[in-house]
Amino acid sequence: MDERAFERDSYCRALASEVVECGVEEGRPWARLATTIFYPEGGGQPADRGRLGAAAVVDVQRRDERIYHFLDRPAVLGPVELELDWARRFEHMQQHTGQHVLTSVCKDRHGLATRAFHLGETYSAIDLDPPALDEARMTAAEDRVNEIIRDARPVRVHTVTPEEMAQLEVRTRGFPASVGERIRLIEVEGIDRNTCGGTHVRNTAELQVCRLVGTEKMHGMLRLKFVFGGRAVARMRAQDEREAALKEVLGAGPEAFPEVAAGWDRERRALQRALRQTEAELAAALATGLAAAPEALVVRHLAGRDAGFLRQLGTAVLAAAPAKALVLFGDDGTAAFFLVAAGEAAECDTAALGARLAAALGGKGGGKGRTYQGRGPDAGRIPAAMKTVAG
Ligand SMILES: [Zn+2]
Repeated sequence: MDERAFERDSYCRALASEVVECGVEEGRPWARLATTIFYPEGGGQPADRGRLGAAAVVDVQRRDERIYHFLDRPAVLGPVELELDWARRFEHMQQHTGQHVLTSVCKDRHGLATRAFHLGETYSAIDLDPPALDEARMTAAEDRVNEIIRDARPVRVHTVTPEEMAQLEVRTRGFPASVGERIRLIEVEGIDRNTCGGTHVRNTAELQVCRLVGTEKMHGMLRLKFVFGGRAVARMRAQDEREAALKEVLGAGPEAFPEVAAGWDRERRALQRALRQTEAELAAALATGLAAAPEALVVRHLAGRDAGFLRQLGTAVLAAAPAKALVLFGDDGTAAFFLVAAGEAAECDTAALGARLAAALGGKGGGKGRTYQGRGPDAGRIPAAMKTVAG
């Protein structure tokens, strides 16, 4: 078995070791070490990164008690210096140890069992069962976790035999953390004792702060999202930057954001109503002109008008002049819209013409009865599409 220095000492950032076996798997060079400080992906915690001599460690996987370090270049047998991406690892240690504390609070205070743990790029999550945690209990759980952080409780690693473990109160016996006859237990003093093979901080004070950031129902469980430590600070920093940017745009401080946004929303709805009214009037006026046009097939481009306006106009024209057929184009400055519509008394294969226009615009469309509507990604192709109507 490959020796795991990370189990002995989670704080070991660099170590002199030895490459004992190496090879290439599906084009990816790999190496096994006599002793490693690199945590392999497992138990919800991602694999470590860092350097193995001149090579970058891009992934670490455990297979049958052997640890494979995947590298950006081939390794050579013999002595090698290891160096961990410590900032990344410590951040993982915060989320992972924080999860132990959060899991114990959810169980002891709220009767919610943790069924799964995920450590993601921006936040981590535990899946809780039963899936019920209201806002008030969530705040209480967060407060309790932060209290445990302030307590600065030691986090200890114990190795015990199965007989010794049977005498202890241990929360989960879930994932296999046993090493032969020895079982690895992580104890958060006075809070939790748990079987685990991961890497942990040595004191809850190192978790800095806990923030529960939201919940989501998933697979019949409740996914509770959280951040600890550096990740929580980075999140606050990003929020402050967004707030400052919004302040510039809205011309008001954060406390006024909801009020300003609600005002804008009211204004937007009123403008939409006014616009719809104006469009209806415009469509009626334009319809009179188009219905009186001499040609049987009327082709027009109405710059800046959307598909809804084209439909409105088409319906009004054909109601007044049922012997006519129409091809109307609109655009939003970027995309093109079109409508093909034929009146009751008109002779026009709207489906064939519509398909031809969709092709000319490099877009798509569909038809029903005597109408066909479509769109294309480039309004610049409308003049060319208009020419294809005649052909
Ligand atoms: Zn753990």
